[in-house]
Amino acid sequence: MDSGPPTIRYLRVSVTDRCNLRCPYCAPWRDRTSASRAELLTLEEIDAAVREAASLGITKVRVTGGEPLARADVGMLLAALSSIDSLEDLALTTNGTLLRARLPDLLASRFRRVNVHLDTLDPARYQALCGVAALDEVVAGIDAAIDAGLRLKLNAVCESGLTLADARDLVRFAGQRGIDVRFIEAMPVAGAGAGERETAGRIETGLRAELGLVDEARDGVARMFAIPGTAARLGFITPSHARFCAGCDKLRLSCRGILRTCLFAGGGVDLLPSLRAGDLAATRAAFQDAMVRKAALGGREGCEVSTMVGIGG
Ligand code: SAM
Repeated sequence: MDSGPPTIRYLRVSVTDRCNLRCPYCAPWRDRTSASRAELLTLEEIDAAVREAASLGITKVRVTGGEPLARADVGMLLAALSSIDSLEDLALTTNGTLLRARLPDLLASRFRRVNVHLDTLDPARYQALCGVAALDEVVAGIDAAIDAGLRLKLNAVCESGLTLADARDLVRFAGQRGIDVRFIEAMPVAGAGAGERETAGRIETGLRAELGLVDEARDGVARMFAIPGTAARLGFITPSHARFCAGCDKLRLSCRGILRTCLFAGGGVDLLPSLRAGDLAATRAAFQDAMVRKAALGGREGCEVSTMVGIGG
């Protein structure tokens, strides 16, 4: 339901457009134009941008990519961002392959929230899908992170090959660890996702029938259900079935400094020049414009689809 212009509170920050996995629905290896080191925002520039955004009312920040943990200074970035008092929520989205290795860096600040993207617990399926035999390392990273006190959620993309057995295993895995798992309908990015909408519906129907799901309160855009017999929940994020553009409160900053009002918005505003010049007033003005524009549009702007890895899913 459209309840008026959203207040813009949420900023997703992509810190790299490179990834060590090859998930077909995200397609980083098809992005021939990965940013060079000089084109990437530095830690200090990202920190400055987020501080300006926070001064205008952004209270939630998610660090993403590409694979954010592939960037060596991500721990320092999270430490810097976690010192912004007005941020109520600071989180990271990762594929988990480097989680165990980066854990000491992540624990060096008050940052505590991680979403781990994991589509299957079948090692052969994982390798076929993601292109790397990294499942054991991801699971080890998840368990190490939970033991260390990080708060985790799992995200599974409902690509066409996702089976009910995969979903069932993920629900069991999450339930055993007391962490939430969300099944995300694959979006039509870089040619992926087309024809895959029915996968999310198929998985939801199958899990509902098997588990006798009990409704819980929504978690942002996710419809949540208790996982019977556990403290964990499962959720479904299905944009094509439940339009939530009207309530969308997100802005996105790419690793090259492009500020967009929507994942699918083309163009955007280039903040790199003002950030590199240390012009905080211009940076703040660009955020202000984007917030006003987003609120006025009340949702989706344009539809120039890029790769998830480049725009920061
Ligand atoms: N590398 C990190 C990861 O794997 O989580 C962060 C970047 S990834 C682009 C962020 C999120 O986007 C992941 O949860 C991933 O599952 C999701 N994602 C990627 N491609 C998608 C698509 N076509 N539709 C929906 N979600 C997608």
